[in-house]
Amino acid sequence: MQDLRRELTLRLLRTIARWIAPGYEVRAMADLAALRGQLRLTGIFFVTILLPGLLLAWTSLSSIQGEGLAVWDEVKRRGELAIATLSDEADETFLSFETATRQRLESGRSPVDAPAELSPHLLVAFRIDAQGRVAAPFDRRKVPPTQDHTLVLSPEWREALRQEHDDPTAAARLYHDLSLQSRGIRNRGQAAFAEGRALMRAGQGSAAEQVFADVVADYAHVRDLNGFRLGDLARLKRGELLLARDPEIGRGTLEALTDELISARWTIGLGGEAAVAARSLELLEDHAPKDWLASARGRLEEKTRLLFYAGQLQSQLDIVTAGGKALRVAPAEFSYQLIERTLWATTWWGEDFYAFALDADTIVAHIQDVAAQTVRTDPDLAAQVLSPQGAASPDALARRTLAPYLPGWSLLVSPSDPVGLDRAQLRKRAERVIVIVLSLVIIITGALLSVRLVSRQLDVAREKADFAANVSHELRSPITHIRLKGESLQFGLVEDDEDLQEHYDAIVRESERLSRLVDNVLDFASIERGAKRYTLRPADLGDTVRAAVESARYSMETRGMVMELDLPDGMPVVLHDPEAIAQVVQNLISNAAKYGKEGGWIGVRGHVGPEGVSVDISDRGIGIPPEEIEQIFDRFYRSSDPDARRRKGTGIGLTIVKYIMEAHNGSVSVRSTPRQGSTFTIHFPLKPPSPRS
Ligand code: ADP
Repeated sequence: MQDLRRELTLRLLRTIARWIAPGYEVRAMADLAALRGQLRLTGIFFVTILLPGLLLAWTSLSSIQGEGLAVWDEVKRRGELAIATLSDEADETFLSFETATRQRLESGRSPVDAPAELSPHLLVAFRIDAQGRVAAPFDRRKVPPTQDHTLVLSPEWREALRQEHDDPTAAARLYHDLSLQSRGIRNRGQAAFAEGRALMRAGQGSAAEQVFADVVADYAHVRDLNGFRLGDLARLKRGELLLARDPEIGRGTLEALTDELISARWTIGLGGEAAVAARSLELLEDHAPKDWLASARGRLEEKTRLLFYAGQLQSQLDIVTAGGKALRVAPAEFSYQLIERTLWATTWWGEDFYAFALDADTIVAHIQDVAAQTVRTDPDLAAQVLSPQGAASPDALARRTLAPYLPGWSLLVSPSDPVGLDRAQLRKRAERVIVIVLSLVIIITGALLSVRLVSRQLDVAREKADFAANVSHELRSPITHIRLKGESLQFGLVEDDEDLQEHYDAIVRESERLSRLVDNVLDFASIERGAKRYTLRPADLGDTVRAAVESARYSMETRGMVMELDLPDGMPVVLHDPEAIAQVVQNLISNAAKYGKEGGWIGVRGHVGPEGVSVDISDRGIGIPPEEIEQIFDRFYRSSDPDARRRKGTGIGLTIVKYIMEAHNGSVSVRSTPRQGSTFTIHFPLKPPSPRS
């Protein structure tokens, strides 16, 4: 059962190996074990690092779209907050007005008397009674003034007017007549008043006073063509006369007149009372107490202002009243209506209907002010009050209607710099992408490096195993040879002289090979341990190379090799360890023989140049594939070329060569053409290396 499983696993692994690398040749269990190790490692990396890394990166990348909007979302959130505050504060403008109005109504005081206390934006307020008439603060002119002025323009009138300057007494008489003859109460009253005026001018004070007293008694409420009440005018003139005669009485009369006029209910469209009161105040200028004058003037101005607005807004008031009647909601509930630039707030209280005319322009300016204050602390936001015709910008973050208070108007919060926000968002997104991609690259690189590192380790382990096998084999073959040849000699099986010689040669050659092998293995072991030491001394490099070649020559030539040595005269003295360099030369010659052609040629040639001394060891053998040139000096490295593989070796010869040359501050290099041969060059720089052992 276990065997079967093993067999199946092996088969699977072989298939995978062929699939991954079609040229891969599965050679032995060691390979399979290494492959299995690599696969397991790759699996672990994939499952524990790469896969989660990729998944994380994928999730992060896909969430960036949403994340990128965070800048806008954040500003939008602040915009929403701002608009909520803003809207509350805008509402407050209206709520405080409503509350103040309601309080006044509840306490039984009329809200139309003191508009300024209810809201700074209130122009004028009206109370409309159950019959739809304006009940406060003004009257409304019910009938248009009569056009009855025929007598006024009569020749008598014109004559009286003309004489008033030159002969006021005569004029007074004419007016007196007119006052008796004229038709219509207004004409009679006007003539009577004119008589008083002419008498005054004629200097007949007491007569004039009398006439004015009569006018007050008979025509108090009759209005002249300009809308003045004759009674008021007569009282004013009488007051003026009194002031001259008896200032105390005159002042009292005029003060009473002024107070009365200011508190009277005026009529919309008629400014007589206001004008008379103003004139009276003028007369009192030097007579009445200052504070009284100031207060009277203030009240007069305020009331005149209200009358002005009331006159302006009459036609709008009609619209509002008509609409308000239909809409009778709960008491003191306000409804709002915008007509041109006036915001009408209306409410019912008992049987009365109240209409408040608010100035929409100042309200909008006020809300705009509040809006600007609210967003002042946030430089990203801008707030705006949007008119019904205004178009909201497409970047707007939040919008709130100002209805029901300001129908059609709305509050808008938008980014102060949308382009800047877009840029910030792009930057944030780019940063994220860069971080994710970088992390991904690092994870993948790390995983690949780790896999490579471990697979390198596995390779080394396999090479070591190969090395052990190779060394054993390398040891066995010379030993077998020596033993065979020795036994042949021992048992006297060889008689022929030539044969004898051949046997001795073989024994010597194989012993040399054996000792070189043992030297190499021992050297390699001490190099690996870091224990190998060389003793450098100045010596003739030519001598060292020659001795090495000569010691190899005999064995080479018995193998039918041709060895050619070409050293220039006067090879320099080089600081070196002759034994070690001899080992280098012998290793290279032995390789040249091993990878050379049967009965081939080996050339050893020395050069002396400006840069140093070098020695080439050349052969015309199988050569080295270019892609392996880099690796042949690595420990245990043996070519994968089948031709080279057929020749036994351990893969440490060149490693030792390289190590020894580096210890001499020199180098080893190779030029090779496959199937044509190789040249290994060892090079010594001319500057002697610093002595090192
Ligand atoms: P070994 O010869 O014991 O295998 P080396 O370290 O001496 O180990 O050589 C490493 C590899 O370099 C050899 O396996 C062989 O493929 C290649 N090589 C070395 N010298 C030569 C040469 N002269 N010609 C062709 N290939 C060579």
